[in-house]
Amino acid sequence: MKTTTHQRSGSAHSKNPRKRPNIFDSDSSSDASSEVDSGTEGEDTTSEESFDDEEHVNSVSAEDRQKIEIADVIKARTYLKRKGVEAFLNKYLVESPNGKDIIRLIYLLGELTPSETHIDYNNIRNLQKLFQILYDAIRKVLKSRDRIKSISLPTDIVEQIGKSKNIIVITGAGISTPLGIPDFRSNKGLYKFDLKKYGFKRADEMFNYAIFKEDPAKFFRAAHLILPEDNRYTILHAFLKELESKGKLLRNYSQNIDGVEDNAGISPEKIIRCHGSFNTASCQTPKCTFSTDGKKIFKLMKLQEIPICPRCAKKRPKMLAKHDFQTYGVIKPDITFFGEDLPTRYFETVDDDIEKCDLLIIIGTSLQVSPVNEIASKMPHHIPQILINKDPLLHCDFDVSLLGFSDHAAMYLAKKLKWNLNHEDFEKLRHRKYYTLEDERARGVHHVYEREKMAKRQKLQLKETILDDI
Ligand SMILES: [Zn+2]
Repeated sequence: MKTTTHQRSGSAHSKNPRKRPNIFDSDSSSDASSEVDSGTEGEDTTSEESFDDEEHVNSVSAEDRQKIEIADVIKARTYLKRKGVEAFLNKYLVESPNGKDIIRLIYLLGELTPSETHIDYNNIRNLQKLFQILYDAIRKVLKSRDRIKSISLPTDIVEQIGKSKNIIVITGAGISTPLGIPDFRSNKGLYKFDLKKYGFKRADEMFNYAIFKEDPAKFFRAAHLILPEDNRYTILHAFLKELESKGKLLRNYSQNIDGVEDNAGISPEKIIRCHGSFNTASCQTPKCTFSTDGKKIFKLMKLQEIPICPRCAKKRPKMLAKHDFQTYGVIKPDITFFGEDLPTRYFETVDDDIEKCDLLIIIGTSLQVSPVNEIASKMPHHIPQILINKDPLLHCDFDVSLLGFSDHAAMYLAKKLKWNLNHEDFEKLRHRKYYTLEDERARGVHHVYEREKMAKRQKLQLKETILDDI
């Protein structure tokens, strides 16, 4: 974990997968509109004949671009895969396209990253760059998997979990938000906090290792905002523990730093903490091996104090004066900052795990950050891939997307599987009804919700077809 590296790599497409890239610029907005475009065909219903090759898709304004829906993305990706690059470009790109046309098409393929949305497409000098991004997007789509036709319903998830023995679960911040732990990019996320009073111009600087090395005090002034609370965990975490208890969990690749998996009792060997955790903390002095239980420094962090290593404390004032070595003797939680090496355990397990895996479930993450997002792309195409997330992910081809709160999805699945979850709220929640609602805009996309939340859901004006009433 400990490293003296402070090289910052810039994007999710980082060439060095061992470094944690800065996700601030590269994360998906995952904000596909929920508006209904009835009559739009989903992948499965889109026959070869239903594509009208003569119909040209016109360029749209930046505002219109935001309205592109998941069904449009699925249709475009499917067309490209089935008809090839030439037919795709003939249909979807106008003659003599300008920058706006190109960037719109990249977006329509679900492959536009937020940093790429900032490219000035009116500047003719960016045209070549945009074509390169489009070319890369097309290549990615052509390499991506085709959905498994026999798996498209929430009940198919139940069946797959029932028969799988080596499930990989990738989790992100979305599974911990019910505990009040802020995620990074949602409206209530940490990146929306004003951290200027702590000395950060942008919120992501809080986790920038180069900035930490310059002035660790800044981090410790703000760290109380992100400290995990003791012993709490969500229904979804309890579901993951049950996967382990039933002998089905091969590994949980967690991008979370909150360590909540421990509270749910998931065994440490079943978890890869891709971005480290608060569970341990280490002295930043090179060659000092002092490491401690992370909880021991929580009290100091809550008081906005800097924890200092007992072995290095004596020399620290001298080192500060002589070498301007700000992190000498500073104990830092072992969460992986941008520009730091990822935990080595990730690289020790990931390839073998992919080989053994018989079901991939992705929960509460926009799956934009490398190298974790590569697990999905490296997975053999015949292995089912399931998404449980608040928003659809446009750049991936999941067999089933179950959209909604992860705890609702966990309760739905637990009840269907007739599993008891070890969680204080389970008895109360098991008497509630959980529904899935097919999103008729695209095959394999479903919404999950509690009955009590139905009224809220209806506001989406989806045609309601209740598939499962447990
Ligand atoms: Zn030390």
